[in-house]
Amino acid sequence: MTALLDPPATDILRIAREQVLERGTGLSEQQVLACLQLPDDRLTELLQLAHEVRMRHCGPEVEVEGIVSLKTGGCPEDCHFCSQSGLFSSPVRAAWLDIPSLVKAAVETRATGATEFCIVAAVRGPDATLMAQVRAGVAAIREAVDIQVACSLGMLTQDQVDDLADMGVHRYNHNLETARSHFPNVVTTHSWEERWSTLEMVRDAGMEVCCGGILGMGETLEQRAEFAAQLAGLGPDEVPLNFLNPRPGTPFGDLPVLAAPEALRAIAAFRLALPRTILRFAGGREITLGDLAVDGMLGGINAVIVGNYLTTLGRPATADLEMLADLQMPIKALGQTL
Ligand code: SF4
Repeated sequence: MTALLDPPATDILRIAREQVLERGTGLSEQQVLACLQLPDDRLTELLQLAHEVRMRHCGPEVEVEGIVSLKTGGCPEDCHFCSQSGLFSSPVRAAWLDIPSLVKAAVETRATGATEFCIVAAVRGPDATLMAQVRAGVAAIREAVDIQVACSLGMLTQDQVDDLADMGVHRYNHNLETARSHFPNVVTTHSWEERWSTLEMVRDAGMEVCCGGILGMGETLEQRAEFAAQLAGLGPDEVPLNFLNPRPGTPFGDLPVLAAPEALRAIAAFRLALPRTILRFAGGREITLGDLAVDGMLGGINAVIVGNYLTTLGRPATADLEMLADLQMPIKALGQTL
């Protein structure tokens, strides 16, 4: 009787249990696709396995990060999801933050227990003025507070990569955003390959690589699996997972919000493709998952962004910190490796 209830040897979750949980080898593109195609009545099982993988290969700690926008809006690129593009009619205005405000944000972020502070600028890539601002900002933050500084400044030249490494920036974020095959439907002003080449330079310079994307931008399940496999090929230290929050005035403003079960399946499938990576809840979580965010935390996620995102409100930091306390997941301490 029991044999009838056991999943067949070809069942993807049975395979994943042996391959990913026991041996630590991430799922292939086709295997990720099989997970994304699982019916709703197997979602709980999928999430449980992804959680076991996260606990076995990463541990119970959660990495907490705050982000701040050094330069907002007015970007010359046309990423169709982004309200910071100057090419759309979205209401985000161009603005710069001064260094004292940057330092204040870093201090407040550290006070939440966060160990990461990411400086973000809405640009194609930094110019000399922005690089000088970042250098001054990073030095002022390091003087004021003990927190690791990351940057997200768009596409870089080799000299800029070297400069950032020299400043002590320990992690660089640059998202591939979506599968290579879907990218031309999302961005036309630069290529996926240009993004990839920045990521390679960052990795080769010894900085940690943070690279993720946005799900729910009209990609097929096949393309979602393709994206997971491409990220696994890059081997990033961190993958921020965003869900499209359709912003008024952008070309993707009318796309539907991803259904919660689909988002949860994707979280778990990405964890099974990337067993040791820091998998971070980023933007769009509130609108996509609401209170089901807890299921994501118990389905492979092991990092969060506290406070507000760049152009939309998140939740108060205390709400997330309470959620982690309820789940008995400790916040990663400074200097601790996940
Ligand atoms: S995602 Fe980045 S590069 Fe693209 S429009 Fe927005 S700020 Fe510019």
